[in-house]
This record gives sequence, structure tokens and C-alpha cells, in this order.
Amino acid sequence: MPSWKNVRGDFPTLHQQVNGKPLVYLDNGATTQKPQAVIDALSHFYEHDNANVHRGLHALSMRATDDYEGARARVAKFLNAAAPEEIIFTRGTTESINLVAASWGGANLKPGDAILLTEMEHHSNLVPWQLVAARTGAKLRYLPVTGDDGLLDLSQLDRLLTPEVKVFAFTHISNTLGTINPVAELCARARKVGAVSVVDAAQSIGHMPVDVRAMGCDFLAFSGHKMAGPTGIGALYGRRELLDAMPPWQGGGGMIAHVDFFESRWKPSPERFEAGTPDFGDAVALAAACDYLDALGREEIARHDGGLAELAYRKLQEIPGIRLLGPTKGERGGLVSFALADVHAHDVVTFADKDGIALRGGHHCNQPLMKKLGLTGTARASFYVYNTAEEIDVLVASLRGIQKFFE
Ligand code: PMP
Repeated sequence: MPSWKNVRGDFPTLHQQVNGKPLVYLDNGATTQKPQAVIDALSHFYEHDNANVHRGLHALSMRATDDYEGARARVAKFLNAAAPEEIIFTRGTTESINLVAASWGGANLKPGDAILLTEMEHHSNLVPWQLVAARTGAKLRYLPVTGDDGLLDLSQLDRLLTPEVKVFAFTHISNTLGTINPVAELCARARKVGAVSVVDAAQSIGHMPVDVRAMGCDFLAFSGHKMAGPTGIGALYGRRELLDAMPPWQGGGGMIAHVDFFESRWKPSPERFEAGTPDFGDAVALAAACDYLDALGREEIARHDGGLAELAYRKLQEIPGIRLLGPTKGERGGLVSFALADVHAHDVVTFADKDGIALRGGHHCNQPLMKKLGLTGTARASFYVYNTAEEIDVLVASLRGIQKFFE
């Protein structure tokens, strides 16, 4: 049973030296480390239960099918979805959003319609909509970001969220700004004009409670690897009525009710959207990640990660010439991104690595936002359950050293 007291002990990768210094892993926005419980769940599956799911009548296949469908039910519970059938396993957030854009968007958008996004979207919640806009003739609109303080300019919603808007897609937490958006309010506003809402939960899923029914969203996308789970698996949540009315987006085995030479019929959701052999081994380990995070408590995780980000923001503010992005007050997600005067973000990351610190630097798949803010990139420190206040002191000391070197 995991506990906060031993949390660092649960993550084997943390216990190593990098460049002769203890590893300080602050790149959790890109991917989180994995607890032993998740690694064990993956190995256990391959050591004991491995067989292809759904199509077999032998013992191992039936066991693997139970494990896989059990994982779906576990994810549904993690999100407070109404039914396991509302969970489609995908490779992650990117694939989930591509699925909605291609399937729902392809079937429902037409010339004269609008797709509303925000200026803080990750390329994953932007390019799939550009693709479907080009295919259907729908037009893109953007809800502006106010500036370095990284808030959505909600005063523009009435002007932009008009009845032409058929879909409003936005991130829960910005991966560059750390802003936590008011998702329930945005979903309600979308519903009022008859638009479907799509929430990119890549940065929130492992860091705070995510309840699709409390949010009132139509679709929600996330990746397992950002919530202590394995890579290569994530999910799309979709409201049952919407999923059942959507066409498949890939064809193959597992998704059909009947196939003939010239036509086929599909199974209902979720099988309809899971053509081919699914990633059942990783699904089982994702369920173990849900158990791990719930045992720590997602409210507590939000307090811990948000608290560290808040502390980092205050301490980094004391560095002369630093430019900090994201909300200056109020709640923030577990990350801080910043630019040091006259030092390229890639240099910051390379020099921090010499001190054993893992940061991320660049445009963070937010090129249009960077351009708007007049930046080519930032360095980003992103926190998780195993990070500590002492590690923030190590970061601040390293940044001061980098700044001195470049003076
Ligand atoms: N959206 C946001 C906000 C993200 O931070 C990320 C990952 N950086 C993604 C989408 C894409 O996630 P993935 O690469 O796991 O599909």
C-alpha cells in the first residue's frame, strides 16, 4: 500500500546519479516516472496471463480478456464515467483527439461551421482540428490568452462561442503556462450553444481529481505515461450517445459485427474504435497506476504538486532577469516555465543537466503561443508526487550558477 512517507522509495529510476549528482527529475510534464507497483503489474501480466484478448476460448485468453476489460472498468471509475463502454483505449492523448476530430468531426462538420480552440493548446489539440477543418470546410477560431499571466480571456467567449461553433476543444491544464482552466464552466458554455466539448486532460489526469460527470464534458483525452502509468496507452472518454452515433476511424479485426466482400457492419463502442490487437498489457498496468494514485489521494496530489509549483514560482521570482509564465496568483498546475535573460532555453536545460537536474526546454509543442508571447522557447520545471522542496533549492542554485556563467 503506497504512502506519502515512502513515496520516493516506490520509484526505482529516482535513485541514481546523473553527471555525478543525485538525479532531480523535474520533467514530469513530458512523462512521469513509474512506481514499482506499475512495473510489477506489467511484468506479472506478461509472466502469467499473456494471450490475445476477445478472440480466444482458451484459459489464458479468457484471463487476459478479463484483465483488459477490468482495466477499462477501472479507468471508467477513475474518471467517474457512467459506464466502461465510454472508455476507448488509445495510444494516448494525441491519438484520442485525432479519433474525435476524424470520426466525430468528419461526420458532423461542414462549411459554415466553426471549431473553437484556445491559444494555449498543445499541437495535439490543434493540428488534428486543422486537418478536419481542411477536410470539411469548417473554420477555426481561437479564444485568446491574456499574456504572460496565461489566463483565458473569458470576456471574449460571447463573441466567439456562437451557434456556428459545433465543437469547443480546450486543455484542462496548460503544459506551458500551468494555468488550470475552469473546465466545468467552459463545458456548460459549449452546451448552451449546442457545441460538443473536448477536454485535453494530458496535464491534469495524474495531478488532480478528474471527474467527467462533474465537468459535464462530452469527450476527454489523456495519456497513461503522464500519470505514473506505462507509455503507449491512454484513453478517450466519450458520452455513450455520441460514441454510438460516430463512424469508425480505423478498420480491421475486433471492431466488426459482420464483414462481407463489399460491406461491413460495426460493433458498438468501445470495440468499434479499437481495430486490431489492443495494447492489453499496458492497459493492465494503467489500471495499477489508477490504484496507486487513488491510494495516495488525488486531492493530496493536487495540493502537493500545486504547492511545489507555487513555491518554485516564488523562489524563481527572486532571480534577477527571469521571465516567468503563467498565473501570478491563485491555483496553478504542477509546473513553472521561465526564460532567463540572454540564455537560450536549450542552454538552461543542458547546463542544469550537468547538475543532475532534468528540465525541458523549447516551445513545448505550443509554437503559436510562443510566437504570441514573443518567445522562441522556455525552460520548464514540472513536479510530481516524489519531488521535494529541497529539489527546488537545487534548481534555484543551478539557475543562479547558469546565469553567472553567461554574464
Ligand atoms: N496535450 C498536452 C497539454 C500535453 O502536455 C501533451 C504532452 N506533452 C499532449 C497533449 C500530448 O500527449 P501525448 O504525447 O502523450 O499524446
